[in-house]
Amino acid sequence: MIVSNLISKKRDGKSLSKSELSSFFNGYLNGEVTDAQMSAMLMATYFNGMSEDETFILVEIMLNSGSKVDFSHTKKYVADKHSTGGVGDKVSIILAPILACLDIKVPMIAGRGLGYTGGTIDKLESIPGFHTSPSLDQFKKWVNKCGYAIIAQTNEVCPADKRIYSLRSKTATIPSIPLICGSIMSKKIAEGISGLVLDIKVGNGAFMKTKEQGAQLGEWLKNIGKAFNVSTDVIYTSMNQPLGRFSGLACEVKEAMDCLKGNGPDDLIKITLELGKHILIQSRLYSDTKSAYSALMRAIDSGKAFQKFQQSVNLQGGSISQLELKTIPKYQKILEADRHGIIAEINTELLGWCLVQMGCVAQKFGDQLDYSAGIELYKKLGDFVNSNEPIARIFGSNKRKIDNAEKFLKTAYSINAEYKPVPLFL
Ligand code: URA
Repeated sequence: MIVSNLISKKRDGKSLSKSELSSFFNGYLNGEVTDAQMSAMLMATYFNGMSEDETFILVEIMLNSGSKVDFSHTKKYVADKHSTGGVGDKVSIILAPILACLDIKVPMIAGRGLGYTGGTIDKLESIPGFHTSPSLDQFKKWVNKCGYAIIAQTNEVCPADKRIYSLRSKTATIPSIPLICGSIMSKKIAEGISGLVLDIKVGNGAFMKTKEQGAQLGEWLKNIGKAFNVSTDVIYTSMNQPLGRFSGLACEVKEAMDCLKGNGPDDLIKITLELGKHILIQSRLYSDTKSAYSALMRAIDSGKAFQKFQQSVNLQGGSISQLELKTIPKYQKILEADRHGIIAEINTELLGWCLVQMGCVAQKFGDQLDYSAGIELYKKLGDFVNSNEPIARIFGSNKRKIDNAEKFLKTAYSINAEYKPVPLFL
């Protein structure tokens, strides 16, 4: 293989054959292809795309880069959910324990922060001691014992996604349908699941900014699921503002715990229940929407879902009491409305970049995260505000970063006389 020839082929808009894709992507894992060459290939793919056939091959190569988890011994329905990425999206942390209470096994492989979107793994690692890179054997034991576990891609399972995901985050090559398909579907299929529900985020804080882009991504993801025998449902939800009230690291875990105790914000609960309903109906344990919703609500109201979360945190080595103690932010700033009116627009991507600057997503290899950092939204789209009324609180442990983020955050809000509501479900 002449590595640079394969890059120039993609740069010039041509398709790569199965053996070319395999040589290049496997070559990256065995050291024949450098980070710089992979970055160039990712950028060429970002601009020129891949055909659906190339994308299927990419999924297969990434899946086969490591081992697949085997759940063939269980009679339980094994399933998972995944989101295409957004700001304040902590649904995985809430839904996995709820489903585990309802006899579904959830072996969840999640990601770290990607671009300006927060990662489930970084959020969970704000819990002191929480371990996200177990051996494959340990992962299976956790899932078998508790019903669910949430881990990162490891050197054993999905090593290709582990490395490429991190590189994409740092090289502005995320919003590419084939690369998103390769990343999401390789790790979901590797989990050994039979069912999957995907939350395709669309809007100014999503990687898919338009409904058309979201619809194409959804179609391709469903087709890949079908080809690999995973029943795949998709839903489309708005990411024109952060989900819930909190965006950041530890603060999102705390908000997820509030949801599990029955005190969650409306938008977050609605999306969690909708995704959960799809898995329950797929499993055939529930035959209609109404009974699925009631079961999901019962898991929360009975306190069982929160207990399940506590069990999983303990199993994965974490301590919830230490989370409360060790993630108290040292500084905070209150953002006030500069005029009277309605919150008509929130530039959610900009808000995400503020969080990156505050230390909620790694910008380069080895970056230390600030687990105490985050933003609390006092007001959301459609809320009325008076001039000088507090609209948000930003907090963290690095004063310079908080002061800097405040300047950007001020420009993320549009306060107008009118507002055109955007539905949560698209
Ligand atoms: N989530 C992933 O796991 N990968 C992507 O590329 C986007 C969202």
